[in-house]
Amino acid sequence: KGASKGATKDPYPDWKPGEPVPYAALCTTFSKIEMTTKRLEILAHCSLFLRQVLRLTPQDLLPTILLMINKLAADYAGIELGIGESLIMKAISESTGRSLQHIKSDQNEIGDLGLVAAKSRSKQPTMFKPKALTVAGVHKGLLAIATIEGQGAQGRKVDGIKKLLSAADAHNAGKAVDIEKDKGGPSEAKYIVRTLEGKLRLGLAERTVVVALAQAMKFHEMSQDDKIPSTTDLAQAEATLKSVYSELPSYEVIIPAMLEHGLGKLKDNCQLQPGVPLKPMLAKPTKSITEVLDRFEGKDFTCEYKYDGERAQIHFVAHDTSLEMATAAPAAGKSDKGVANIFSRNSEDLSKKYPDILAKLPTWVKEGTKSFVLDCETVAWDIKEKAVLPFQQLQTRKRKDVKAEDITVKVCVFAFDILYLNGEALVNKSFRERREHLLGAFKAVEGEFAFAKYSNTNELDEIQILLEDSVKSGCEGLMVKMLDGPESSYEPSKRSQNWLKVKKDYLAGVGDSLDLVVLGAYYGKGKRTSWYGAFLLACYNPGTEKYETVCNIGTGFSEAVLETLHKQLSEIVIDRPKPFYTHSSGNKDQPDVWFEPRYVWEVKTADLTLSPRYKAAADEVAGGGKGVSLRFPRFIKEREDKKPDMASTSRMIAEMYSRQESVSKNKGPSVDDDF
Ligand code: ATP
Repeated sequence: KGASKGATKDPYPDWKPGEPVPYAALCTTFSKIEMTTKRLEILAHCSLFLRQVLRLTPQDLLPTILLMINKLAADYAGIELGIGESLIMKAISESTGRSLQHIKSDQNEIGDLGLVAAKSRSKQPTMFKPKALTVAGVHKGLLAIATIEGQGAQGRKVDGIKKLLSAADAHNAGKAVDIEKDKGGPSEAKYIVRTLEGKLRLGLAERTVVVALAQAMKFHEMSQDDKIPSTTDLAQAEATLKSVYSELPSYEVIIPAMLEHGLGKLKDNCQLQPGVPLKPMLAKPTKSITEVLDRFEGKDFTCEYKYDGERAQIHFVAHDTSLEMATAAPAAGKSDKGVANIFSRNSEDLSKKYPDILAKLPTWVKEGTKSFVLDCETVAWDIKEKAVLPFQQLQTRKRKDVKAEDITVKVCVFAFDILYLNGEALVNKSFRERREHLLGAFKAVEGEFAFAKYSNTNELDEIQILLEDSVKSGCEGLMVKMLDGPESSYEPSKRSQNWLKVKKDYLAGVGDSLDLVVLGAYYGKGKRTSWYGAFLLACYNPGTEKYETVCNIGTGFSEAVLETLHKQLSEIVIDRPKPFYTHSSGNKDQPDVWFEPRYVWEVKTADLTLSPRYKAAADEVAGGGKGVSLRFPRFIKEREDKKPDMASTSRMIAEMYSRQESVSKNKGPSVDDDF
């Protein structure tokens, strides 16, 4: 209903059919979104704007969507924003002629560089009117900035930012910016800077953009026949686009196909394709084998070893097939047999990290296996002992440009699922069938390629023995998976209740380790005064796009680790907390230094408690404003494979807390980990 509001009004009269989408129009929409917290209103603004794009300039739909979700390209392209504050301040200063001192003091006062840019721009006397920015132009400019590398990269990045900022707000330059009344209004400079920082802070989740796009497309298509979609039409359109996106998460592929074939034929034209990584399915933690038995009561399930390495999705297309790798990532490995790609859990291209896997891959397939997408774990392998090695060994391998001659740690691939085989997507088949396909299409090669060890048992004693064996063989525990029926299909990007994990160390503690973002630090005492001795950590709330603090941590660090961390972190110190950090305001609770949100650490805890010092999940637990916090947290390792917005979410922490408190016995539905 919300989406049809204002359908007949044309809110951007200056934008004529066929002309590039004005960036100012997108910023007006952003500003409207920023002024509300109501999801339906946000959706309506978003969808209305996309309808205009579809009606007037459909060729700009792709950059519009990318800017709305604050990405420049699909994740596997490896292009990232998140430019440091100091570079942006320099660019604001140089493009507006205000001193760096002024910019810094404004930033101290306002705490949002976007607003500082808007304010600086509005104070600037205008000699001439720059050409108005377009959505496609801004996207191109940002892409250029993000991909600058090599000598003098920083200076050239600043130049790129300056260029965008000088052209910003052509239409309303010199107009005063009112932070109190409308959060700085639709200022282009504000949104350019926030985009550069990697956080738009509109409360606009990617899921909402997908729904808005589906609605807008449906409205657009039906308007050709002078019709308006019903609620059912809209729901169908959403379901179509969501399901297509979960199999093929690439706007670069979906949007042109949708414009060409329409929503009705989108599913036929957009299916899982080798070359486009899916967001992996994830598991829910359980505390005991009996909990597993309770949850899967009456169903057939299977228990697999949970290997402790790195998630890897391997895509392959043989030369002698009519198929092609959809959008081969830059580092695709080519052999005389075919083209292969490896993607991380994050959809990053790992092909340069594992040239050894790419080289050997064709020797693991059976005759007739021409194209596939495998879900696996890469694990460090001890050739002498013929056994898996701890994750730390795998970490010694560089992430990029690994040459065959400098490989010291061998890797064995443990395959546990197959999502695509010989031209056919398998995600909707049962796990029992997928496993048959997996076993039928590949052959194990000792120390190189193996099938995850499993047993289809639901006997408590047998599972207990399997768990003990898995731990003895260097694994983390078990993954327990539903075998039959629609529940056992592969659910991309979901933390699903149809996959349960039982880790050896759950059996005592809270249930799982957490992945948290480092926001601040405290100087050490005694021997450690020149380094940081303790750190402030936070979880992520995707709903509000904020980091909510959850504990201080000072345990689990060796001297050597503290020294490295000090080096790493002192490069990202910022003067004050970002406005999207939520922490207690108490004086004694403030850390000595604050950081950009960049590093994710895996942390274990004895249990969870409520505390007024922290804010994690404060809105979700009935704690009268108190947040959930970790007791006796201990540092395990850095999670290089996770970005800050992939940290444990407030919802997960609230769930863990309520499970611990036995407040609720609710099993909860599968939740989407990604959105
Ligand atoms: P963790 O810290 O436990 O790895 P996570 O959030 O990265 O947590 P989970 O959903 O908790 O991911 O656990 C699933 C992970 O376990 C997978 O991402 C994969 O890397 C790894 N894994 C190892 N063996 C298996 C297996 N047999 N089946 C599925 N995943 C497995």
